[in-house]
Amino acid sequence: MNFSSKLLENAVSEFSRLPGVGQKSALRLVLHLLNQPEQDVTRFSNALIDLKSQIKYCKECHNISDQDQCEICTSLKRDRSLICVVEDTRDVMAIENTDQYGGLYHVLGGLISPMDGVGPSDLSIEALIQRVQKEEVSEIILALSATMEGDTTIFYLYKKIKDLGVKISTIARGIAFGGELEYVDEVTLGRSIVTRIPYERNIA
Ligand SMILES: [Zn+2]
Repeated sequence: MNFSSKLLENAVSEFSRLPGVGQKSALRLVLHLLNQPEQDVTRFSNALIDLKSQIKYCKECHNISDQDQCEICTSLKRDRSLICVVEDTRDVMAIENTDQYGGLYHVLGGLISPMDGVGPSDLSIEALIQRVQKEEVSEIILALSATMEGDTTIFYLYKKIKDLGVKISTIARGIAFGGELEYVDEVTLGRSIVTRIPYERNIA
């Protein structure tokens, strides 16, 4: 692309680094922003700067939060004996949307993937084990994607947790479960949490 302005080229190059955004879409978005009132563009830019500089990760569950501890972990209405282990914040949002789960979460921050160089120490697995050891947890629900990475992570967590005296279950994944948790519809996801099954039965 030949740009008439270095400023335009810089902005397009930043946008085209986003996932799923090609150069053409980037140019369209940048020209759109250029046509907006200055205060709108400033608000847009500030939202991103504030996001990056002020966002926190809950010290309990590692979910994205505005406070040191997230609203779910500080809520008195949640069942603290249940911890649902998920890959990232999108899964927490998806499960919360089902209105079928009243326990706590633990956000791993990814899945074990030797191909991508992601090992157990890159995820918040040690923090999860400490929670299980310190707090009165009765059940761990492993709600991870039905992918090879999801299965690898589930098996790793099972081996780490199985001797800690808590029940380990997984969400039912036999029913129309086309992969990533965030794409599953709310009814199916809600039902699979309610009808979760003990993990041992799966590998026996
Ligand atoms: Zn939390």
